Amino acid sequence: MISEKNYRLGSKSSIIREIFSFGQMRKAQVGADKVYDFSLGNPSIPAPDSVRRAILDVIENQPETIHAYTAAPGDLGVRDTIAKSLNRRFGEEFTGANIFMTCGAAASLNICINALANEGDEFITFAPFFPEYRCWVEGAGATLRVARPEASSFQIDFADFKRLLSPRTKAVIVNSPNNPSGVVYSEETIIRLTEMLREKSRENGSPIYLITDEPYREIVYDGCQVPFVTKYYRDTLVCYSYSKSLSLPGERIGYIALPGRVEDYDRLMAAVAGAARVLGFVCAPSLFQQVIARCVEDTGDINAYKRNRDLLYEGLTRLGYTCIMPQGAFYLFVQAMEEDAAAFCERAKKYDLLLVPSDDFGCPGYVRIAYCVAEETIVNAMPAFEKLAREYER
Ligand code: PLP
Repeated sequence: MISEKNYRLGSKSSIIREIFSFGQMRKAQVGADKVYDFSLGNPSIPAPDSVRRAILDVIENQPETIHAYTAAPGDLGVRDTIAKSLNRRFGEEFTGANIFMTCGAAASLNICINALANEGDEFITFAPFFPEYRCWVEGAGATLRVARPEASSFQIDFADFKRLLSPRTKAVIVNSPNNPSGVVYSEETIIRLTEMLREKSRENGSPIYLITDEPYREIVYDGCQVPFVTKYYRDTLVCYSYSKSLSLPGERIGYIALPGRVEDYDRLMAAVAGAARVLGFVCAPSLFQQVIARCVEDTGDINAYKRNRDLLYEGLTRLGYTCIMPQGAFYLFVQAMEEDAAAFCERAKKYDLLLVPSDDFGCPGYVRIAYCVAEETIVNAMPAFEKLAREYER
């Protein structure tokens, strides 16, 4: 007998990947410039030149170690460099010992969830949420519970969140800037959330951990600030990745930051190492650990995403679409023009517009548009968006 749980997780492919594959097929049929593929969160801007220079530098100057294993938590010099950068930027007090290098945010989250989860535990997240959370939480033998967003702002609906808190709540996962809404949780939201977590932890007699999923931390617009959550809540595990900020999703590099003051720190850090071991990560890629240390505070050209956001938001609202103005990440969350978002996306396909229905994000009735695409894709897609909107005027 094969594992039913893993069969179930593997046999249903991600809707995002399905739409992306459909797009590849359509591009082969009608030409790439005739298909407006907004399905995948693959950064469209190139990695900054500092990444290319860093790769060459490592290849030239560290040939003996670039292909070698590192220690499981990563190279200590690299971890020290990341710790110092976080201290400088966010007033933290990390050393390299607080940083565990990972194969991207997916690995960071999966490791943290597995480090914490016992049978029967519950993890809470907020809709709309990254669909892989369900896979990771259920894979760890725990249950995912999903709180509604506040209707107009897409911040947290605290009444709904309160309803889900229980003695079984092990951790809460927040993702800000958010995929798919582009919303950044305000300082007010973080303060209220962390107050509730402190209160419930006291009542439970054990900590509820807060896992922050922040691959989009640097991708924010109009001077928007992303609160660094460790400053507001002691028991925080930070999951970071360079996939988006440095446009390196295929290189699989990120980290977990665990403050030393976290409840049960030593045992939790050991459980992080244990989970990484069980999941078979061994160590994060050596070459890219060294590259990161050389470009630790760099990003790609975030302005290109801002131009895309403005173009798309203005264009779509002019055509009658209703959407949230994103403050970060590179997604626009748009209300479908009929109740069934999947049916709306099917209709959009007629115009070779590839949008992702929001059902798997736990928030039906919307579509996600990933605007990490070439600017001309947005410009050229506007007539197709117009034809689609017209269908609903009749
Ligand atoms: N979390 C969120 C919210 C994401 O959007 C993604 C990727 O799109 C990930 C985690 C996984 O990122 P990574 O490529 O670093 O594993």
